[in-house]
Amino acid sequence: MGPAIGPSARWHDLPVSSTRFDIIVVGAGIAGLTSALALERDGASVVVLDRHCAGTEASWAGGGILCPLYAWRYPMPVLRLAAEGMRRYPALLDSLDSPVDPERWVTGMEILDPIGDGETVESIGATLESVGIAHQWRRQAETHALWLPEVANVRNPYLLDALTDTLHARGIALREHCAAEGLLLENGRVAGVATSQGEMQADRVVVTAGAWSESLIPGLPDGSLFPVRGQMLRLEPRPENGLDRILMDEGVYLIPRRDGSVVIGSTVENAGFDKTVDESAQARLHATACRLWPQLTGARITHRWAGLRPGSADELPLLGEHPAIGGLWANTGGYRNGLAMAPAAAELLADRMAGRETRLDATPYRLERLIDG
Ligand SMILES: Cc1cc2nc3c(=O)[nH]c(=O)nc-3n(C[C@H](O)[C@H](O)[C@H](O)COP(=O)(O)OP(=O)(O)OC[C@H]3O[C@@H](n4cnc5c(N)ncnc54)[C@H](O)[C@@H]3O)c2cc1C
Repeated sequence: MGPAIGPSARWHDLPVSSTRFDIIVVGAGIAGLTSALALERDGASVVVLDRHCAGTEASWAGGGILCPLYAWRYPMPVLRLAAEGMRRYPALLDSLDSPVDPERWVTGMEILDPIGDGETVESIGATLESVGIAHQWRRQAETHALWLPEVANVRNPYLLDALTDTLHARGIALREHCAAEGLLLENGRVAGVATSQGEMQADRVVVTAGAWSESLIPGLPDGSLFPVRGQMLRLEPRPENGLDRILMDEGVYLIPRRDGSVVIGSTVENAGFDKTVDESAQARLHATACRLWPQLTGARITHRWAGLRPGSADELPLLGEHPAIGGLWANTGGYRNGLAMAPAAAELLADRMAGRETRLDATPYRLERLIDG
């Protein structure tokens, strides 16, 4: 018999073997934290593992824009999940139990080069309308800029802190510095996880390990999930920055934060698991930003960093149960939209795990498209 467990228990002090959970969630980024909260709401006892500290990888590194960039260029299932996620953010943030404010700010987003090859004002408008993303066109001389008035951004590290606080408040266990090293299987079903701290038993396991997920999902062809590096930089808060909206051109975006600082992103690079930043990419981002919003010229760069997005071969997230290993689930592959789609993805996962009908058609995200049953 293990020690009594309650919301106030110090979970990380408990020996691994003394605890058994209904569900082990592997990876404490945005996907893992939101999944854990949704699953706990359904009454499951949940533990979240992370090999480092919670919320220190892609979810920390991202820009926090709650809308896909050039949204109409994504496959519809991605766009539907992201648009549903955008709508759910206010409710998610209201439900959090934390003194930390994620600083959601509805600034709108202006895209200066929206019309690519083969695209028209009408085709873009029709796609956005079909998923309920409000938009307006602004004519500037010979060109069209696209204005998305309802787009918000959040401060990623604050959002992750607030989610982690909420996990603690709900009595959901979080075990940091605990790496999943393999799955425990019994009669073709998952029975737990072998971790760097010993074996942990559970009836179900959810893989939310971001760019590191592939090796934890048996049967995935090589290259199904992979890291895509994104570099970012941040400019000091100054009153003269004066940026009042997210601004985007040539694939570069500028995000105003409430404290007056500006975050600039991002590169899209296949560099393996390498998170270093390089001078030339940083210089290009910075120069484009100063051209787009000249008031930023002279603002000091205070931070530079890179993160690894969980890319997937067909650009769609993996969201569902493994076709050959009962009880093994995944919520990963969010690529460039993992933050925006997180609340909708977590709900879809919880609905499927509970056998409920899902609000969105879950078929496009199923693992069966990549793994034989
Ligand atoms: C530069 C950049 C900008 C971005 N901007 C945006 C944006 O503006 N809007 C948007 O919606 N999305 C954006 N994204 C994408 C978004 O950040 C990601 O899709 C999302 O954060 C992925 O979340 P995740 O939880 O799947 O992965 P992560 O946040 O990477 O979390 C995975 C976790 O799993 C842990 N882990 C890995 N392996 C193991 C293991 N074996 N055992 C235990 N734990 C393990 C890791 O330590 C990590 O904490 C951006 C990403 C980057 C890099």
